[in-house]
Amino acid sequence: MFENGQQVTVDISSDAATSQSAGQRFEQIKTLLQKEFGDTAYRSWILPIEAVSCAGGTLSLSVPTRFIRDWVKTHYADRMRSLWTQHFGAIARVEVAVSGKKPDSAAAPAGVAYERPAIANENAAPPAAADDFSVALDPRYTFDNFVTGSSNEFAFAAARKIADNEKVTFNPLFLQGGVGLGKTHLMHAIAHAARANGRKVAYMSAEKFMYDFVRALRFQDTMSFKAKFRSVDVLMIDDIQFICGKDATQEEFFHTFNALIDQGKQIVISADQSPADMDGLEERLRSRLSMGLVAAIHPTTYELRLGILQSKCAQMKRNLPQDVLEFLAAKITSNVRELEGALNRLIAHAELVNRAVTVETAFDLLADILRANDRRTTIEDIQRKVAEHYGIRLSDMHSPRRARPVARPRQLAMYLCKQLTTHSLPEIGRKFGGRDHTTIIHGVRKIEELLATDATLRDDVDTLKRAMAV
Ligand code: ADP
Ligand code: MG
Repeated sequence: MFENGQQVTVDISSDAATSQSAGQRFEQIKTLLQKEFGDTAYRSWILPIEAVSCAGGTLSLSVPTRFIRDWVKTHYADRMRSLWTQHFGAIARVEVAVSGKKPDSAAAPAGVAYERPAIANENAAPPAAADDFSVALDPRYTFDNFVTGSSNEFAFAAARKIADNEKVTFNPLFLQGGVGLGKTHLMHAIAHAARANGRKVAYMSAEKFMYDFVRALRFQDTMSFKAKFRSVDVLMIDDIQFICGKDATQEEFFHTFNALIDQGKQIVISADQSPADMDGLEERLRSRLSMGLVAAIHPTTYELRLGILQSKCAQMKRNLPQDVLEFLAAKITSNVRELEGALNRLIAHAELVNRAVTVETAFDLLADILRANDRRTTIEDIQRKVAEHYGIRLSDMHSPRRARPVARPRQLAMYLCKQLTTHSLPEIGRKFGGRDHTTIIHGVRKIEELLATDATLRDDVDTLKRAMAV
């Protein structure tokens, strides 16, 4: 709770707070999405979405068609979850169902009850209070839940120092890192801890800072806008890259920033790039931002990813076999958010079918995510692994020899290239000694036919796919 006004909260929902239905809240999320994704995307995909309910940590939505559902799920569900969590309290899932209604009959259902998500614990932020202006914190984003490794331990140590020390040692702390590497998590952790130490914390995205600022301008209320920012002990602005190229907002931010620094208040900023690398940033703001400490969060290592998976399992009180966790850690290297998404999907599946997940099922269930992460499986890798497996020479992959002991493995390699890489058939053909794409199609079909009846071949394919996966 935001006891004794220690934490100044919240946000766009400030007018109506607790009495809002899920439908009303979701309309505000839609407005944010419109700003983020633009009018065209908004009209095509976001406008038709209706909120059905928000209960038990799940936000349930409905859309008119399956096509919209699939699109919304892949493109906006994640963002909606984080926006909702940011503004109205943590939710774990966004579900999208097809209503079958015509797209234009899309008025939000009246009186949908909003239930506090079960996942939020007693320490969680309450729905927005009337005169607050920072956003609610995710109760799960604590220092305890943050797993450290060589890639992030420096940023972690800097964050801890800010959180624990009353005295300002470096100002601002600038957390820099790619998408999904834990910037927001660390910022919330600082906010939780600083608040526990009795400091007044304002945390918000740069987007919201700008939104509030523009609104203050419109209502000619910039005085109180300035005053409320300047009353905090710690100001945290997430994703500052958002104000790049937005001059008036930068101007205001610069003044707020200077005023707070002059008063010895702590500032924490995050961005996907370092101040030096950000385009569209005013020079004086750039140099101001570089004044303190720039702490980078680097891409994760295998060990860190495995540690994070184990920690998330423990947190959720769920178990997955160690080899499955190792498989995920090896394969999903892009960012931690995606890693978590994959883990959640496997856990959900295991519960649904009430059976332990294996590496094979993981391979199928995560095909989309694995493909997106699979920048390393090349045609050459596949040819080499297949040649090794069958004890033939790598050059046999390119040779014109048609004897079955080399032709069959070659066809299997073609089949795997088709399945595991994004290369076109002519490209694959070129790498197999300049064969025509029809030869590749023939090879792929042949293997598909054999797989239907040949269990040994199926085993070979499984083994090879697994070897390719790590
Ligand atoms: P960013 O703000 O950098 O895009 P987030 O802080 O939103 O990334 O992190 C994405 C997800 O990954 C969050 O759910 C977060 O809890 C999780 N995460 C990232 N890094 C770690 C870590 N080191 N330990 C535990 N969870 C992490
Ligand atoms: Mg973030």
